[in-house]
Amino acid sequence: MTAVQRRTFEGLIGTGERPVFPADLAQLLRDRIEEAVRGLELTQLWLGKEPLNDHTRCEGLFAADILGEKPPFEHSLKSGAGTLLHKAIEVDVGSRDDLDPQTIATRAAERLEEEPRFAPFWRELDRLQQDEILMEVVRRVATFQSSFPPLRELRRELAPISELRVRAELLGGTLVLSGQVDLILGRPDQVRPNVATRLAIDLKTGRAYPEYPEDMRFYALLMTLRFGVPPYRAASLFLDSGEWQAEDVTAETLDHAADRVIGAARAAAALGGGRAPDLRPGIYCSWCPRSTTCPAATGSDASGSPS
Ligand code: SF4
Repeated sequence: MTAVQRRTFEGLIGTGERPVFPADLAQLLRDRIEEAVRGLELTQLWLGKEPLNDHTRCEGLFAADILGEKPPFEHSLKSGAGTLLHKAIEVDVGSRDDLDPQTIATRAAERLEEEPRFAPFWRELDRLQQDEILMEVVRRVATFQSSFPPLRELRRELAPISELRVRAELLGGTLVLSGQVDLILGRPDQVRPNVATRLAIDLKTGRAYPEYPEDMRFYALLMTLRFGVPPYRAASLFLDSGEWQAEDVTAETLDHAADRVIGAARAAAALGGGRAPDLRPGIYCSWCPRSTTCPAATGSDASGSPS
């Protein structure tokens, strides 16, 4: 390992004793949320990191999100490159062969050729634009490989999983929590199943945003509900610098994440019942679908949008 890879291995992944959590932790968290939400007037509500953050920002933005007012998703050059990067990391981590970044990027584009949202976006680009995006992904893969210890070689020890979709259904599916974790490292302990052996990582190409730690707490909650044991740590890693923001997961972390879910579910029920949203304008007004009609909207530009 290079000095940088070793720093990530020792400082972020860590090799010390892992924490042990109570066997009934997932059930306690499920009970905490379900007891608070039961009785609310909710048709099915899906919550992921984006609506939860919108709820923290402004109830009007949150209402627009859960009521489907946001325009249908269309890839931009930036989001297309992001999708391709995540697929490229999947290729890098999952391949049995030792591939160079250019081959990884090309194979990732091939694998996305049938993906419903990416394929039409990719087909509309000319070859020069495709090459530019591929080159951007090559750069990002190179920074990923230089930031992490060689995951292919350490597959037995670290059991890397990329792009893991996780969903937890509560109250019989009335409340659905979902997300996709970019990278999970750590093999579950078959002998001591309540030992937290996993590290959850989101890979970031931009700068740090205050929402990121909340996103990772939410993922920790989601993993606890889904797998019965939380990750020992949750982190955002910034590919430009190789630096990270990490938090060790504790019972308090998980309670906090559960309470954010409860707050958003209560707001969804109240807004659905006709209560006026509490408008809290901010830089996010620039990407809010209600900005042209909202009396509180600010005229900020979109430069503060998290990537
Ligand atoms: S325009 Fe701004 S204040 Fe109005 S609902 Fe949207 S985010 Fe809230």
